[in-house]
Amino acid sequence: MAATKTRVESASFNGNRLVAHAEGLRKRYPPAVTALDGVSFAVRPGEFVAVLGPSGAGKTTLFRCLTGLTRPDRGTVTVAGRDIWQSPRELRLARRELALIFQQFNLIRRLSALENVLVGRLGYLPAWRSTVRRYPRADVEISVRALARVGLETFAWRRADTLSGGQQQRIGIARALAQQPRFILADEPIASLDLKSAEDVMRLLHGIHEQDGIPILVSLHQLEAVGYADRIIGLRRGEIVFSGSPSTLTDAVIQQIYYTDDASSIDGVGTPRPHA
Ligand code: ADP
Repeated sequence: MAATKTRVESASFNGNRLVAHAEGLRKRYPPAVTALDGVSFAVRPGEFVAVLGPSGAGKTTLFRCLTGLTRPDRGTVTVAGRDIWQSPRELRLARRELALIFQQFNLIRRLSALENVLVGRLGYLPAWRSTVRRYPRADVEISVRALARVGLETFAWRRADTLSGGQQQRIGIARALAQQPRFILADEPIASLDLKSAEDVMRLLHGIHEQDGIPILVSLHQLEAVGYADRIIGLRRGEIVFSGSPSTLTDAVIQQIYYTDDASSIDGVGTPRPHA
């Protein structure tokens, strides 16, 4: 079943116009966990794709392989036209095009909201400026605009660790916007948020996708937010078991993604994860 899906995905690839392309990704952790087992898929320009799967399905491992944080045992990853595992240079160049949003926000706690957003500009600066944290005026303006875009311009000088989880994630999104990326990857961006903040964050990501045309790949643990995506990729035990629009996510497909063979729940279908 999974092998068939993988072939279907591969057949629809279209060479140069892909934003990201994973082919045959396999990753095992010793002694015996197969986190990814031959995963192939592509993100095309203009797409908002959600990787959906229960805890342990391999979502984080997949995102780490796509962003150069975990080396797959087998397979290739191309991001913004670069084979990221070919050389450190290719990885570095691909990363400039790629903005990351994390479950735990990954802000520098003691810095202000604005300084955290300015981190998104670091890839454009010579090293000396980043070490003394002196940013050109144009970068400050870009960052202030990004803060306004997420509705937090009045919080520019607030220390990051005094903000709520939802606000911190919006700062994370502003940092991604300040990077002016060609592609945004968000690994479980709402898993640590309450329902209202989760909805705000998904609406914000969807708005950025619609207005700026930036392709987005997001991983989700729950079903609530899947309606924001153009396409869902269902991951189960390291294999793609579904690829299609949210409207084709039938009960039978959900069963296939989330439930074990004896039909007992793996976990987390539609229920919020506890606040981390
Ligand atoms: P998800 O993000 O969908 O919860 P993960 O990619 O975190 O899934 O995990 C997939 C599988 O790989 C799980 O069984 C997990 O326990 C295992 N795993 C993840 N990271 C490691 C690691 N560093 N060492 C050993 N096992 C790991």
